Formats: sequence, C-alpha cells, structure tokens
Amino acid sequence: MTDSTDREARHAELAERYLPDDLLVRFRERAAVYDRDNAFFYEDLEDLKERGYLTLFVPTELDGPGLSLHEVSRLQQRLAGAAPGTALAINMHLMCTGVVHAMRARGDRSLDWVLEEARDGEIFAFGISEPANDWVLQGSNTQAVRQDDGGYLLSGVKIFTSLSPVWTRLIVHGLDESDADDPRLVYGFVERGAEGITVSDDWDVMGMRASHSRATILDGVRMEPARVARRIEPGPVPDLLTFAITSNFQLLIASVYAGVARRALELGAEALKKRKSAKKGVSLAEAPEFRMRLADAHLDYMPVPAQLDAYTRDFDELADHGSGWPLRLVSARINASKVARRTAEAALLCSGGSGFGNSHELSRLFRDATAGLFHPPSEDAARPMYAAALLDD
Ligand SMILES: Cc1cc2nc3c(=O)[nH]c(=O)nc-3n(C[C@H](O)[C@H](O)[C@H](O)COP(=O)(O)OP(=O)(O)OC[C@H]3O[C@@H](n4cnc5c(N)ncnc54)[C@H](O)[C@@H]3O)c2cc1C
Repeated sequence: MTDSTDREARHAELAERYLPDDLLVRFRERAAVYDRDNAFFYEDLEDLKERGYLTLFVPTELDGPGLSLHEVSRLQQRLAGAAPGTALAINMHLMCTGVVHAMRARGDRSLDWVLEEARDGEIFAFGISEPANDWVLQGSNTQAVRQDDGGYLLSGVKIFTSLSPVWTRLIVHGLDESDADDPRLVYGFVERGAEGITVSDDWDVMGMRASHSRATILDGVRMEPARVARRIEPGPVPDLLTFAITSNFQLLIASVYAGVARRALELGAEALKKRKSAKKGVSLAEAPEFRMRLADAHLDYMPVPAQLDAYTRDFDELADHGSGWPLRLVSARINASKVARRTAEAALLCSGGSGFGNSHELSRLFRDATAGLFHPPSEDAARPMYAAALLDD
C-alpha cells in the first residue's frame, strides 16, 4: 500500500470511530431543530463527549488518542457537513487543545495542563475577539492589571465566544500598561467560576446559531499566576503561542467551511436529480446549464480540501515556511469560506424555490456559510499582506 492509501484507510477508521454515518444523520436532524429554535447543541455535545471527540488532540502519553491536525481537520470537515454550528463551536475547544499539542511538538510543554484538563472533561473556549480590535491577536482593548502574586485582573468585552453555555476554561488576552514604556500583551486562561464573568444572553443571528457565540463581559476577572501563558510585546512579534493559535484557528475554521461546501454540492446534485423540466421533458440533472453550474461549483471546491491537506500535513511535520506561513494559512481559510458561500448559492439555484424555505437544509447552509465573512482577518484586512509579499522589499 502507498502512504496515501494508508492515510486514507486511517481517515476512514477515525471517521467510523468518532463520526459514524448514523451519528451524522442524528446530528443533521438536530441541526435543523437547533437552528429553528435558536438552541445550543447540548445533545450533540453529549454524543461527542461520549466518543472522546473533545480529547482528539490529547497525546497518547497523556492517555489520549493523539490525533494530528491533519486528522482532526478531516473529521471537522465531516462533522460540518452534518452540523455546521456544532462543528464551528467545538472547533474552538479543539483549537485551544490543538494549540497546546502544536507547542508540545515544538518543544514547549508549559501548557500541557490544558491537555490534561481536556482529557479530564474541561471544555475550552476562545475569548479573543473584541469590539473594534482589528489588531486581533496583536493587541487588546481588555485591561490586564498585574497583581503582586503575578496574576492579573481582566476587564473588557470579548465578542462571539462560541460554546458560551458550557465552556469551563477560556483563553483570553489583555493589555498590561502598568509600565507605559513597556506595555505587555498578556495571554492566559480564566475559569468559568471566577468572579466578574457575565455571559450575554443576546444571541439571535443569521447563521451558525447552534454555536451560541455570545459576548462575554469580564469585570476584574482573576487570571491565576499559574494560568498566565505569555507576556509579550503588543504588535507583530513572533511567538510560538500566537503562531500556534493562528495556524490552528485558520486551518480548523477552514475545515468547517470546507465541510459546508462539500455538503452544499451533495444537496445541489440531489436536488437536480429530483427536478424535471416540463418544457424539455427531461430531468434537470440532464439539463446542460444546470450540469454546468454544478460542475463549476465542484471545480471551485476541489482545491479547498487539497489546500487543507497540504498545509495541515506540513504543520504536523513541522515544515518551516517562515513568513510564508501566514500567506498559506489565511488563504486556506479565506478560500474555504468563499467557496462555501459560492457553492451554497449554486446549490440553492439547483434546488429551485424549495431550497428557499426556512426548513430546507440548503437555506440553513447558505446562512451558516455567511458566518465565514466575519472570521479574522477579512479579505480586506488580509490583502496588504499578500500585496506586500510580492511588492515590498
Ligand atoms: C459564528 C461565529 C462564531 C465565532 N466564534 C468566535 C469565538 O469563539 N471566539 C472568538 O474570539 N471569536 C469568534 N468569532 C468572532 C469573529 O471571528 C470575529 O472576530 C468577529 O465577528 C469580528 O467582529 P467585528 O469586528 O465585525 O465586531 P463588531 O462589529 O464590533 O461586533 C460584532 C457584534 O459583537 C457584539 N458586540 C459588539 N460590541 C459589543 C459590546 N460592547 N458588548 C457586547 N456585545 C458587543 C454585537 O452583537 C455586534 O453585533 C466568531 C464569529 C462568528 C460569526
């Protein structure tokens, strides 16, 4: 057998172990209900926990299955094809654990406790996005006030915290300006039980509704000294933690939208087989203009999983792309989310007016795909990096 045959056999085995077909059918049925009722995916979460899905990145030395980013990306594509909101939210936990897994692989074991706690049932979430913070990882509007024991008190607003009803640990960042000449960006974790945390109950959005990515308000929330992960200069300063966050974030978010795109193609094809032209007396699956539309969408989709496979494997194999990494990572995520929106639109056209009904899976996929417009960096924010890579010395 070739390497790639072995790899595909392993992916099939992991799919069967963690996301068998019958479970995906249940997830897909529930996704419609969660979306209609604007409900969080509690039942999906229980099923995922039971199968060990929340421990995927826990290494075998810590009694976990020790999956690679490449393997998790494939599973997340599969999950997103059934339940995009569930996949996007659980992505945040997977990303936090994936970050520590990646740091470990690069010789930094300072956050191994995250993997141990994930193994023991804690749920990690990602509290980085803030209103009007286009620095994203490189700056913060959250105030971090240093305490004598080395801990911090954090005050600020984190928006779109997926998993808001259930997370127990939240990775956050804030700015420590106690030394005006040497401000520090503090990264670390806070616990759900800490005083000063309020989770907003305002959540009524267009897509990915099951993720319940509600705002989190921090009012003097204590980050224990042992939970401080980094104190780095604000701005574009190379650091293993932020590199690991960017890599896992971009590639796992891309995996979700790749799964949405794949499912849209399947639904588009199913719809065409069911529809008939009264005028021409043929199935629309035989009508050239519809075949072409679906073919174009399929062509559009093909590079998306290929890009994900290549970059996740490079990442797992510790490839050193240097300044070429951000170009790869961001383009994988932007392409996947663009293609998800385009294939969802093509599939809607294939389905005709029935797909426009709110209870139709395609209508939900179209709305879910739209969330891809809002993950950072947007295309507008990313363009300067791509231009500079070619034009600036
Ligand atoms: C479905 C989905 C899930 C996401 N999950 C995560 C996640 O888990 N972790 C994460 O860090 N980022 C997450 N993001 C955030 C995302 O990646 C972007 O960073 C964010 O959408 C960018 O928003 P903006 O700059 O356009 O914010 P803005 O336009 O400034 O705000 C967007 C929304 O945030 C809310 N908001 C703004 N200001 C306040 C305030 N002061 N108080 C309370 N609420 C306010 C409002 O609902 C507002 O409509 C998610 C985004 C989406 C669409």
